[in-house]
Amino acid sequence: MMPHSGHTEESPSMNSASADRFSRQTRYAPFGVKGQKALESAHLIVMGAGALGSHLAEQLVRMGVGKLTIVDMDIVEISNLHRQALYDEADALEMRPKVYALADKLRQINSEVEIQPLYQEITPTNIERLLTDVTPDMLLDGMDHFAIRFLFNEVCHKLGLPWVYGAAVGGKGTIYAIDYTGPCLRCLMSEAPETAESCAINSVIPPVILQVVSYQIAEVMRYLAGTGFSGKLLTVDPFNMKQQSMDVSRMKNPDCPVCGGQAAYELLGVAEPKWVEGSCGDTYVFRFKSQHFDNADLFPGHILKTNPYVKLLDIDGRSATLFKDGRMNVHGIEDAETAEALYQHLLKAMK
Ligand SMILES: [Zn+2]
Repeated sequence: MMPHSGHTEESPSMNSASADRFSRQTRYAPFGVKGQKALESAHLIVMGAGALGSHLAEQLVRMGVGKLTIVDMDIVEISNLHRQALYDEADALEMRPKVYALADKLRQINSEVEIQPLYQEITPTNIERLLTDVTPDMLLDGMDHFAIRFLFNEVCHKLGLPWVYGAAVGGKGTIYAIDYTGPCLRCLMSEAPETAESCAINSVIPPVILQVVSYQIAEVMRYLAGTGFSGKLLTVDPFNMKQQSMDVSRMKNPDCPVCGGQAAYELLGVAEPKWVEGSCGDTYVFRFKSQHFDNADLFPGHILKTNPYVKLLDIDGRSATLFKDGRMNVHGIEDAETAEALYQHLLKAMK
């Protein structure tokens, strides 16, 4: 320790700029320089760049994570701005993919962090390949629909990857960090709870997002500092000033299909996405081939707005967003039959 350095409590192996930048968190003894060094050499992956994902990414980059990969398939919309970090009105106007808008802003916050934005969908058939390519040290859940967490639970178990589940719907949030020493998500629930249903027509308030993210980051800090995950399932309800912390360590299910020794993965590698799928309310997702993006002028209707990643179309008075990978979100569809008929109609027009 150099007696006249002015940073006497810092480790000599941290350079002084880094030590100064992160001194407020390294002086917190339970995290310390040890935790900071672990964070600086860690590669984390954030799944989703919506409300949870954008805040997780911002905080981890501010704290000095070594490398961060962010995966998302959406563009920034005005209705995102009330709760999602770092995006602005220009991003929404330009229909920028969230991962690219986010990566630009994160680089301005901390240029030392290696940021890897992946503009793509996460599916049961691509997730294992994605994670074996990226090789992260930990996965952070920033998704807004519940079912995909069971997929994370399977793939992370298979790859031995610790992950932190976080969910926010309406006024409530849930956090649980899983390293498979205790119960996994499937041990705790065999199917998505009613209250965990989530979609664009559901409400969510910013304080829930911030609280869920706080606890997810705290679990990351605990893990990296060597304390380990808390083993607590936490439910937060900030509007009513309530929260509940439940010790679930004894709830490991010996017959759990995922972590009970059979490693029977029911979702992983199985379900291909459907051609026509109901999303939220009157929105349906259609899947075309990726080359249809370049031939979008063949669709009946007209193109209102375009950029290299996405085209906004008007199809018989319905608004549709066509993505580079051939996905199309169509709004204003009354029922599944109408959706199927419209899909076939569009498909015919492309031939
Ligand atoms: Zn389990």
